[in-house]
Amino acid sequence: MRPDVVQLTRTLISVDTVSPPGNERNLAVRIAEILHEYGLEATIQDIGDNRANLICEYGSGNGTCLVLNGHLDTVPAEGQWRHDPFDAHVEDGLMYGRGACDMKGGLAAMMSAFIGMAPLADRLDGIVRLVFVADEEDANRGSRHFLAHDRRSCKRNLMVIGEPTGLRVCCAHFGAERFWIRLHGRSAHSSRPEEGANAILAASSVASCLEGYHHELRSRKTRFGSPSAAVTLIEGGEKQNSIPVLCSLFLDRRTVPGEDGGQVAKEVEQWIASHADMHGCTCSVEPFFSFASGLLDERSGFLGKAKEIVGQQTDLVFPAGCEQAIFISGGYDAIVLGPGSIEMAHKIDEYVPLEELEKAVDIYEKFISILLDQSSCAIG
Ligand SMILES: [Zn+2]
Repeated sequence: MRPDVVQLTRTLISVDTVSPPGNERNLAVRIAEILHEYGLEATIQDIGDNRANLICEYGSGNGTCLVLNGHLDTVPAEGQWRHDPFDAHVEDGLMYGRGACDMKGGLAAMMSAFIGMAPLADRLDGIVRLVFVADEEDANRGSRHFLAHDRRSCKRNLMVIGEPTGLRVCCAHFGAERFWIRLHGRSAHSSRPEEGANAILAASSVASCLEGYHHELRSRKTRFGSPSAAVTLIEGGEKQNSIPVLCSLFLDRRTVPGEDGGQVAKEVEQWIASHADMHGCTCSVEPFFSFASGLLDERSGFLGKAKEIVGQQTDLVFPAGCEQAIFISGGYDAIVLGPGSIEMAHKIDEYVPLEELEKAVDIYEKFISILLDQSSCAIG
């Protein structure tokens, strides 16, 4: 008997895991209790500050390990909600609450499928593992901690990340590279500007040239769309009557799957060097934040199999950040597939359609039964 996914989603929403501070350990303990009721023993992997991952598995063999992954934390529930964001409300087939789609609905569907398939564990060729991590919305400490302590013994390590994709298989996601661009000038009395080097003038030239850079990026067409660049912050000047020595710009550069962060930093530096008027100033580009884009190698047999299971032809990209890139670099063939829409994530009155929750359970059960089928070699 699998637990009711709607009731399960409601239970997970009721445990506040807004990050910061997260307090995901409270939810991990609650999930471990539910799994225990079905005879499954979970491990709570502490990462400190009442934050923890939850791991639970069954099955045997060293051929295939299928990980059902999601994050326990949510973004804050600020603003005017129509209902209490931690007391899920159902209306017209939609469940409202913080984390409904991002991604307690996904976690509940994974739990329900995992529990529902547990009685068949002896007949599976491989291991099924729930890996629910902390701190996804902020610094990815949960997933990194999990990977650092991961003792994998299987030849094929497959992962489904239950972020909201409307139950479509996504093989990639976008990334971001963010920089502070510092312009360093030379001070002078503002009545004699020619004796100084004006950092604000240099910054304004850099900002304009980065708009040209953005247009150039938009002309690069990939099958997942185009990269972009936007100047989003400016800080500069010291005094009303002196030539500014320092001016800083913040650049938010979005990357498409396949772009390399280090390469992007070089490209930004080179673009500025060849397009901006420095007005006698110097410029430095400081990396501030990096979130790698993810892309599962097309040659992975898992991608084709996953698309076949959900009846999908095309390759799709998840249009936001997620931990796929982290898990791929950790050795997993990871795809993104879960209930709900990314459009509703991080918003007031976030919801997930009940129908998608139910369908998600069926899909995850299929993944377990097809990928770990004893009678066939599911993936070449
Ligand atoms: Zn998410």
